[in-house]
This record gives sequence, C-alpha cells and structure tokens, in this order.
Amino acid sequence: MRTTQEAVTSVWTDWEPDKEGKQFTYLKIPYSRDNSAWGSIWIPLIQYKKGKGATVLFTGGVHGGEYEGPISLMKLARELNIDEVSGRVIILPCLNLPAVQAGTRVSPVDGRDLNRSFPGRHNGTVTEIIAHYIHDVILPEADVVVDLHAGGQSLSLVPYISMHYLDHEIQYRQTYEALSAFNAPYQLIMKEFSGDGLIDYAVEKMGKVFLCAELGGAGIISPYNVAITDQGIRNILKHYNVVPGDIQRLSTAPIQLYVAKQDQYIYSHGAGIFEPFKLLGDTIAKGEIVGQIHDIQDIAQAPVPYYSQCDGVLMGMRAPGLTDRGDCLGLIATREA
Ligand SMILES: [Zn+2]
Repeated sequence: MRTTQEAVTSVWTDWEPDKEGKQFTYLKIPYSRDNSAWGSIWIPLIQYKKGKGATVLFTGGVHGGEYEGPISLMKLARELNIDEVSGRVIILPCLNLPAVQAGTRVSPVDGRDLNRSFPGRHNGTVTEIIAHYIHDVILPEADVVVDLHAGGQSLSLVPYISMHYLDHEIQYRQTYEALSAFNAPYQLIMKEFSGDGLIDYAVEKMGKVFLCAELGGAGIISPYNVAITDQGIRNILKHYNVVPGDIQRLSTAPIQLYVAKQDQYIYSHGAGIFEPFKLLGDTIAKGEIVGQIHDIQDIAQAPVPYYSQCDGVLMGMRAPGLTDRGDCLGLIATREA
C-alpha cells in the first residue's frame, strides 16, 4: 500500500489513510492567481475506517452541474455511523471543486475535463494535479470505486449504473455483482467512444472494480434519482460488508442494456433546434425517427430527421434545444448483448 509521503505530488493534506475512526479533511491543491498569490483549493475528503475489510471509494462532482452524487455523498458523509463500519469508506463528494462551484462540466480554472485528465500530472494544471493525486495516491488504497455522475447541462439520462466490457473474467464477474448490487432502474454494460483519460480505465487497469452511475441530468435534480443514489451507495457498502444489512431492491427488476457500437450514439450533422419525438426510456425500433433539427434561418428547408440505427431503449438525449453540428442527440441501448 502506498502512502501520501511516497508519492510525488504538490497536494498537501492531513488525511491519514490508515487512521481508525472518522476524518473530515481536505486535499489542498496549490492555485496561485492574481488575487491569491499563495492560494489553494480545498477539496473535501471524508473517511470512515474501522477494523479490517474492503475499502470503498465514492467520487462525486468529477464534473460540475451533476448534482445527485454530491447530494447523496454529502449525506452519507454526515450520516454514516462509525460503529457499524467494517473496513473503510473514502468519500470525495465534490472532487473537481471549482467545476462544482461553477456548475460547469469543465473546470473554470484551466478549462479541463477531470474525467479526460487521468492519469494526470503532478506539476500540471489544477485539474491535472487533482487527477494525478487521485491516480497515484487514492486509487491504490481502494478495492472498489463508484463514480457518480449525471448528464450535466447538455444531456438528459435515464438513471443507470454502468460497467465496461472487461477481458479479465474474475474482474468482470466481481464488477457485474457490484453493478447488480447498486440496483439502479437501468444497468448497462458498455464500450466507451468518448475519449481517453477516464478514471474508469485507470481503475480497471489496476485490476479493481469500477462502476459509473449516471443519475439524471439536464442540470436539474429529481427526488426519485436522489433516492436511487442514496439507496445505491448504501447497497454497495452492504455488498462489500462494510456496513451490515440487506441490499434494498426496487419494486421492479433493473432493465439490463448494452452499448457496444458507436452508431448507437446519434450525432447531429447540422445546426438548429432539435425537436425530440421520443421520451427517455422509450422503446425504439431500428429506422425509427428519434427527432428532427430545424434550420433556424432557412425556414423553407424541411427539418432534418435523425434515425435510430438499432432496436433498443432511448437512454440519453440532448437536453438543450439549440444544437450544433457534432452534438450528441441521443443514445440507444440494446436489450441484447
Ligand atoms: Zn459527469
């Protein structure tokens, strides 16, 4: 196990990974700027540790404007009872704090997306320093990582828990068991097409269990999605025997879905106003129209229709009406692997 003293980092902290009990502390990131020459950004870190057992790491606020994760993790941080913990829980409710404070996906400090910045750089920008510290110091401490997201300002998503297709059989099985334990209304096994630098890959490369939850979006909060998040993170703790109790199930079984091909994502090839024809969660047939884009200036032009390339379920949709070339309009997940 690595300790904070061994890693090359410019982050400083009072966090003591091996200390028994409850710690409310900070990761302090140097941030020199005009109005604060020796300034720093303080990212909350909460740890509960008692005896032996698994270490579960929860991250929220990797992007700002995604609220269910931070809400549920702040509640968990206040409400966990150290007496019932066996093992360790590390909670980072607002990991990219400047983005969370600004309500933006990317950090206003350096314009970077934390979830495209792993493994990070110890002498990089603020976001890269955060990624590097998580990668080099915190991830090695964890057995399982659950990263809580939502669609932010630009996407509306059904509440789902997801994992990647994994080559390693034991890692796949352990991850699938954790996925099922979270108990979201939708559970997804997927390939990524959105770029490199994900925390997901960093954790998976270390041979650990990684889950990503997407719990709503459009920059709004629903009580239903917060309740799913509250229950899901407790279910993970129960699954790893970090807290006692039975896993809580939803009234209906989770819907199992898959994303294996890039054309399951529908992309705009023109600008205008996107008029959706479907609602999140709707069943869609291959060749069916998902929506259309109206050219704002060339009114004589018929709107351009966008079609589903597969049979499946509409899991995600563009949230704002205004749309540009290259924006993602929708994601259709299939019911078959
Ligand atoms: Zn996100």
